[in-house]
Amino acid sequence: MTTPSLYQRDAAAISKMSFLRFFPQAVVGGDGAYLIGDDGRRLLDLSASWGAAGLGHSHPSIRKAVNKALESQAGASLLSTANLPSVELAEKLLSIVPKRAAGRVWLGHSGSDANETVARAVIAATGRPRILAFNGAYHGGTSGSMAISGHPAQQGVAKAAGLTLIPYPNAYRDGGAEQAEAAAIDHLEKLFAGPVPPNEVAALFIEPIQSDGGMVVPPQNYFRKVEALCRQHGILLVCDEVKVGLGRSGRLHCFEHFGIEPDIIVFGKGLGGGLPISAAVGPTEIMNHSAAFSFQTVHGNPVCAAAALAVLETIERNDLAANAAEVGQHLTDGLERLKQKHRMIGDIRGRGLAIGVELVTDRMSKTPARHETALTVYRAFELGLVLYYVGVSSNILEFTPPLTLTKAEADSGVDMLDRALSDVAEGRVDPDVLAAFEGW
Ligand code: PMP
Repeated sequence: MTTPSLYQRDAAAISKMSFLRFFPQAVVGGDGAYLIGDDGRRLLDLSASWGAAGLGHSHPSIRKAVNKALESQAGASLLSTANLPSVELAEKLLSIVPKRAAGRVWLGHSGSDANETVARAVIAATGRPRILAFNGAYHGGTSGSMAISGHPAQQGVAKAAGLTLIPYPNAYRDGGAEQAEAAAIDHLEKLFAGPVPPNEVAALFIEPIQSDGGMVVPPQNYFRKVEALCRQHGILLVCDEVKVGLGRSGRLHCFEHFGIEPDIIVFGKGLGGGLPISAAVGPTEIMNHSAAFSFQTVHGNPVCAAAALAVLETIERNDLAANAAEVGQHLTDGLERLKQKHRMIGDIRGRGLAIGVELVTDRMSKTPARHETALTVYRAFELGLVLYYVGVSSNILEFTPPLTLTKAEADSGVDMLDRALSDVAEGRVDPDVLAAFEGW
């Protein structure tokens, strides 16, 4: 009998519903932009664990902060009371958001719990029963956050009673930026003039770039117009920066690209650099409202807060937003060169190190190349590159690498993707290879 691999033991012990088991490989370590497999293989991780490992894997500043917090008298279990790391983290977050949002900080474990808490609080605090969110939006995986999301992967889940989903303008699919923007604004104005009275709407949840929906970058002025409509009608603008925030887009906050100032900002993923912590930052009357009460025992624990503080300080000290802008442009240029060669690439879009590459079966019909996308991701993994796919049709390769990425690492990723795309297009990858694996 052969000894089972770590991957096989994982599959035999851990529910396949508790996380995605994308590749038939376990990892035992990480080193910056690289994952280290249990077979010693080094894999270039241009996903950074879906954007959570913003500083890369095993960053010394996080390790140091976590160890220090664990070794202090408070340890990890000083809960339900003021503790230095969470107070310092909250003060830091209040100092980096626009004034209108700088009231109080709600601390949680994940993007999901922060978004669902905000959804509850805005309805109770405003006395307005409705929420607007976007088709394709992913705000989380708990019942409350799925209830305000519009991603098709969550179609079977009950939606919030007051939820209305609106179209997210997509320049590539909706006839160009101008037309996409005009149609989306027109849709919103018609809603407000008819079925959704704006004075019944508590908040509009936005992703400044719709990441899980397909790394869709909105037309430049769209959110400015949306913000004006929200202000006109007293609707709160909630910005979900969970995946694209905190330097990833090349600015500290992704919403800065679009010239808007949200009332409430939700942070997660990269905030903890892999540790479970999220934050919702907004006006005191909302974040202190009794409806935002959510007693989960380990909220605000000092170890995760210390990690988050170290993340924010490292982003600032090393100007990682600027690195994301510069290396992101370099990576985008490399991908644009691949577009000239690979007809499967229909569109490339993003900001900084939040980039999507949309694959289509042909550029005229723009039919999503769903199967080829999954095969490309799999082949890239075989070649040593970790990437995942997103999108309402699962046909967008998503790049959310560490903000510390170097140009040489970006080039190496482009080279591996080049080979993977050729191997798929030229039939060198068994089309049935995915059938054997969970998570596809
Ligand atoms: N919001 C956005 C924009 C996200 O991308 C995600 C996760 N993909 C979430 C919220 C949910 O965050 P978490 O998985 O930490 O609950």
